Amino acid sequence: MNGYGGHILRVDLTNGKLTKEPTPAGLARDFIGGRGFGAYFLFKEVPKGADPLGPQNKLIISTGPFSGLMIPGAGKCDFATKSPLTGGYASASMGGHFTAEIKYAGIDSIILEGISPKPVYLFIDDDKIELRDAGDLWGKGTFAVEKHFKEKLGEEFQVAVIGPGGENLVPYACINHDYGRQAGRGGVGTVMGVKKVKAIVIRGTKSVHVANMDAYRAAGKALYKACKDAEFLAEWTRYGTTVVTSWCDEVGALPTRNFSAGSFEGGKGIYGQTMREKIVITDKGCFGCPSPCGKYSHAKKYNAYVEGPEYETIGLLGSNLGIDDIEAVAQANWLVDDLGIDSISTGNVIGWAMECYEKGILSKKDTDGLELNFGNAEATFALIEKIAYREGIGGLLAEGVKSASAEIGKGSERFAIHVKGMEQSGYATHNATAMLLAYMTCDVGAHHNRSWAITYDLQVGRELVVPEKVARVIWLQNFRPMFDVLGSCRLQWVELGINRDLYLPALEAITGVNRTWEDLEKVGERIWNLTRMYWARENEGFGRTWDMPSPRFYEDAPKTGATKGQITKLEDVNKLLDMYYEQRGWTSDGLPMPDKLESLGLTAVVA
Ligand code: SF4
Repeated sequence: MNGYGGHILRVDLTNGKLTKEPTPAGLARDFIGGRGFGAYFLFKEVPKGADPLGPQNKLIISTGPFSGLMIPGAGKCDFATKSPLTGGYASASMGGHFTAEIKYAGIDSIILEGISPKPVYLFIDDDKIELRDAGDLWGKGTFAVEKHFKEKLGEEFQVAVIGPGGENLVPYACINHDYGRQAGRGGVGTVMGVKKVKAIVIRGTKSVHVANMDAYRAAGKALYKACKDAEFLAEWTRYGTTVVTSWCDEVGALPTRNFSAGSFEGGKGIYGQTMREKIVITDKGCFGCPSPCGKYSHAKKYNAYVEGPEYETIGLLGSNLGIDDIEAVAQANWLVDDLGIDSISTGNVIGWAMECYEKGILSKKDTDGLELNFGNAEATFALIEKIAYREGIGGLLAEGVKSASAEIGKGSERFAIHVKGMEQSGYATHNATAMLLAYMTCDVGAHHNRSWAITYDLQVGRELVVPEKVARVIWLQNFRPMFDVLGSCRLQWVELGINRDLYLPALEAITGVNRTWEDLEKVGERIWNLTRMYWARENEGFGRTWDMPSPRFYEDAPKTGATKGQITKLEDVNKLLDMYYEQRGWTSDGLPMPDKLESLGLTAVVA
């Protein structure tokens, strides 16, 4: 098939069996690739009720038709699994240079199945595919392991690796690559850990066939030209995602002290501008990227060399913990990356612990003697290590904020900031109704990237609870994840503002199939409904209550900052859900109706 590697690689870890099968043409037609493949394989192949940490769960790594080709940022792949954090669908996107090698090895998806009896790494060099012993690497940090493989095999091998967090089954462990890119959310690294796969090491040298080479060249050129001509390119490249830090602070969206406010009095210390001046050494980009958002930094105070911190890490490990020193945030970033735990969930759960400590719910004897006041950077570093190794209080925090707060009780559930068990990412959603709804209904839990609606809130009136806002969230949820399906970065569209229609001739030239955005958004809607059905299948009683946000956003108005005194009323939260379900064609309890599934061609898939 044009634009595809052509094979699905199955790795049976229990028996050490490796098999390749042709990528089904019908799958490419209906789900295209990337996140679409991951959602489909998860629904069809992981049996109902499978233990996320058991042998029946699978880790599915998928590229898309753009992956590895000359399309801006075409270095993205999707990691899908049943989440050990939420018990529902997990999907994490990873950039860097790993994806291109998968494609060049003639593979569209790698599916890890079963559980290996001992630590291994998966070695792929085109058609030479082997499971090799990783006993001597088990227990090591991600940076050392990546360096080990680069030195041993050569720079052209790309490495995806877990750290001690994944080995110790912290349910929000991530997968690291390229010394700073992650498949971060939902515990994809935990599933790799329980399968005892320390790393995947890959090199591919094959060609990818495209349907029309001349048209592909022309379409690729047009896309790169649009990026190059974009007005925002220079500023974006200078600051990357940290460009939004000061804006978020100004408008009250910067998570501050466990999301109790959206503006931080120490904000300037962690703004993108401060970071650029104080610690950034150089810019760093993913495969084929004309607008590198990665910032490689050196925090002299700690002698930490790290890619980042990017905005989410600054928000969650900085202001959310009351830390106003960018060097301390960079050190925390280095630790979570090396230990292989998600910076967003980690910052969120530490923020919750700090609030518990300041409210007297946790005392020094519960915290192994640590003074967990907001702003304590040294205690943050210690907690990160304790979480990854599950030592002392780290054992509690390693379970995630939903489980930890359920165990501690004493009202701490009210300020556990999560949806469906996934800790909320970097936007405080007091009186920002579209962004709040985006978090409530996101298909993996409280994650921002499916529908980044905060700017729309500001544009049309943040407190409005109207059908237009709901429609905007739904449109973004159907459209934005298409980049994860195609295997390229969305930020050239989001940040540089390039015309999305420029992607269509490229897709046609590569695959030979003419598709409109209407058609692609339908695929996005198909995946959205399939993953909703997955949540419902795996969780008895799944429905509206699962979509509720933390009470913090409808009960606790911030006492300081730009959103001081502002809140969304509970009745408005429910109104948002009513409108959302209606516009989605779901029941009033949030379940897709049979005619909706029929219209999306999903009846047979979910049967
Ligand atoms: Fe990677 Fe950033 Fe470029 Fe996207 S914009 S491809 S995330 S470097």
